[in-house]
Amino acid sequence: MPINGLGRDLLSLLMPITCLGCKAESDWICSNCRQGLNIHREELCFCGHAGTDGLCPKHRAALGLDGLTVLFNYTESSMKELIHQIKYRGHTDGVVFIAQHYQKKILARLPRGEWTVTAVPLSKERQMKRGFNQSALIAKKLTEPVYEYMELLIKKRETKPQVKLTKKIREKNLLRSFTIKRGVEIPNQVILVDDVITTGSTLKETARILRKAGVKKVWVLTIAHG
Ligand SMILES: [Zn+2]
Ligand SMILES: [Zn+2]
Repeated sequence: MPINGLGRDLLSLLMPITCLGCKAESDWICSNCRQGLNIHREELCFCGHAGTDGLCPKHRAALGLDGLTVLFNYTESSMKELIHQIKYRGHTDGVVFIAQHYQKKILARLPRGEWTVTAVPLSKERQMKRGFNQSALIAKKLTEPVYEYMELLIKKRETKPQVKLTKKIREKNLLRSFTIKRGVEIPNQVILVDDVITTGSTLKETARILRKAGVKKVWVLTIAHG
């Protein structure tokens, strides 16, 4: 198991580094395993139904979003493990790896024009404990050649982990937990970044707060769904 927080380069001095998919000696995910990863089709919603701009009519209305870009299914175990290594083991260079291999594809799927990128925030407590916000890192590393990044949202209080809750309770759990950062100039169009989309409850709530503050269009970018 990799040691928390050390970059891949430092780790490689201590032990052989193996692919998260096949355990061959390589980078985070070897080129063979990368070729085997299924890329989510642009014309499909994250639920698998046909849609436009990555959303089926049902989810467009239910989540209040204008578009969605997602690259992987979370059942792709090596990608799931990579996100886990970033989030819970502090391997922030995993984000650099994703940017190296998938930035072009992601940028090609994002909307053109004047969009500002922001990330779903963590609560102060969580951010202190983890030391970084993985969604903010993903947002910056993947979009920085094209879009401006701004911190727009704050998470006011820690909420129960969403994973263990039903959809209804998830939405209740999140209510009034996010707010707009004081003194920011509200852009017209926002690309909102999170690491993974599951039911979409967090994105629905943060998009609602952004719209209430005056944002006209909200497009979501996540690495994986499921
Ligand atoms: Zn491999
Ligand atoms: Zn859908």
